[in-house]
Amino acid sequence: MDISGPRGTHDILPDEIKIWHKMEQVLRKTAEIYGYSEIRTPIFEYTELFERGVGGTTDIVQKEMYTFEDKAGRSLTLRPEGTASCARAFIQHRMYNQPQPTKMYYIGPMFRYDRPQSGRYRQFHQFGVEVFGTRSPAVDAEVITLMVDIVKRLGLRRYELHLNTVGCGNCRPHYRQTLTEFLRPLQADLCRDCQSRVDSNPLRVLDCKEKRCREILAGFPSILDSICEECREHFERVKSVLDLYGVQYILDERLVRGLDYYTNTAFELLVPGLGAQNAVGGGGRYDNLVAQVGGPDTVGIGFAMGMERLLLALEENQVELVDGEGVEVYVAFNSPELEPLANIALNELRSADIKAERDYGDRSLRAQMKQANRSQAVVTVLIGENEAKSGTYSLRDMDTGEQFEIEQNALIAEIKKILMK
Ligand code: ATP
Ligand code: MG
Repeated sequence: MDISGPRGTHDILPDEIKIWHKMEQVLRKTAEIYGYSEIRTPIFEYTELFERGVGGTTDIVQKEMYTFEDKAGRSLTLRPEGTASCARAFIQHRMYNQPQPTKMYYIGPMFRYDRPQSGRYRQFHQFGVEVFGTRSPAVDAEVITLMVDIVKRLGLRRYELHLNTVGCGNCRPHYRQTLTEFLRPLQADLCRDCQSRVDSNPLRVLDCKEKRCREILAGFPSILDSICEECREHFERVKSVLDLYGVQYILDERLVRGLDYYTNTAFELLVPGLGAQNAVGGGGRYDNLVAQVGGPDTVGIGFAMGMERLLLALEENQVELVDGEGVEVYVAFNSPELEPLANIALNELRSADIKAERDYGDRSLRAQMKQANRSQAVVTVLIGENEAKSGTYSLRDMDTGEQFEIEQNALIAEIKKILMK
């Protein structure tokens, strides 16, 4: 028998799992710092939820869903994304009766029948957040900042945040009209998909990846010239909070969402060097989504990030998420009488979440120093008779070779100074 995993799926093996754990830890911690709580929804939902909540004209619903009938003949679909499920849970559990906003995050596998290639799989993982119940532009900025903060905390330095607004139900029809008039004479020259998009969903022509379409579109009318005063004001306020937070963005008028329940802010995070699959995450405001899936009129905003793409981005940029097997601090002591003092230091370090190790083989100080080097310690704590007598420790910065004495009660503070360099 020769059975491999289904096309487009992958195992995460024991020797890769540490990096996943570490990434998940950063994702959860950052979300929690910003005040988001986890929600876990089922892996499958009634198909209708995604038809209404993702939209019938999207690639996802048109060609990417894993849909099947259960034994009772109901149509179910493996979730292709997380937002619709969050909106469904928000409505079903009447979370709108709680004080608003409702801030949640999710993390887990998604399923799309897509053409497998680097950065594109049939089962992949997303981390995402959703905020329901506030239209405040400060929340748009918060959500965007959270996404950027995550890639920063993961250690990525090269990324681009693209930002746009897609207006609202009042002003977008006007833009749609203007854009259609611009596209009509060019229609025959566009790619086959875009030719039909001109009629079905003209905004989506703007984010077509075909080179020829992009060239033909040069000089397209900007949505910023069509949006209403309220949408302009909202966009200005989002940008001013981002400026305050020091988050840099690129205004990108091609960044659009075709569906009616998307409103105002749209954003995407790109990492150069990932080829065609360079979008690591994307999101936006969806003020009409909850109503669209049958709930009371409730505004919302969120984003989703692809976790496999995050890992590819880290790899591409040579960011080591998991620091090998090494330790941060090595505690070396000169004689068996000094062992209690070494144990006290070790215990103190570990209680402060600092990865620390000592020798258990009665080795000489010289041999312990070798061991410290081998275990990639950043700092070595040296304990000799002199230190014991004067209530001090000597610290050796293993990088510079510099050595100095500190008071014993300053151990953690001094070590942190070196670790954070
Ligand atoms: P793309 O244009 O790459 O198909 P998308 O618009 O379908 O992306 P979203 O639905 O916005 O993507 O999903 C958010 C993120 O999830 C993407 O930015 C990407 O990082 C990740 N993602 C989407 N589809 C896949 C997939 N098939 N395999 C792996 N990651 C994916
Ligand atoms: Mg896609």
